[in-house]
Amino acid sequence: MATMISEDCISCGACEGECPNDAISLGEGIFVIDPDLCSECVGLYDTQKCAEVCPVECCIPDPERRESEEVLFERARRIHAERDTVLELGAATSHFRAA
Ligand code: SF4
Repeated sequence: MATMISEDCISCGACEGECPNDAISLGEGIFVIDPDLCSECVGLYDTQKCAEVCPVECCIPDPERRESEEVLFERARRIHAERDTVLELGAATSHFRAA
């Protein structure tokens, strides 16, 4: 599922620069994640970078958007198609496979 930012967001902005997909922006008072750009960091990291840095733990799984590793990886491939990003599926690059 894509990650979402809950109403607990304190608008600190810590997450925005961490997203490898540029999926995070400032919305009306709180930061928001574009679900069409969120790949749960699959292909790049074994954790969701926004959730990792959030001081109030408000970057959470969106129950309305449950998605498979395959779907998320394909999204990451599309987003990074014109960048020199190396995308891989493995324990270090997918939270689905992390120990
Ligand atoms: Fe960006 Fe990863 Fe957070 Fe999704 S989970 S918004 S790709 S940092």
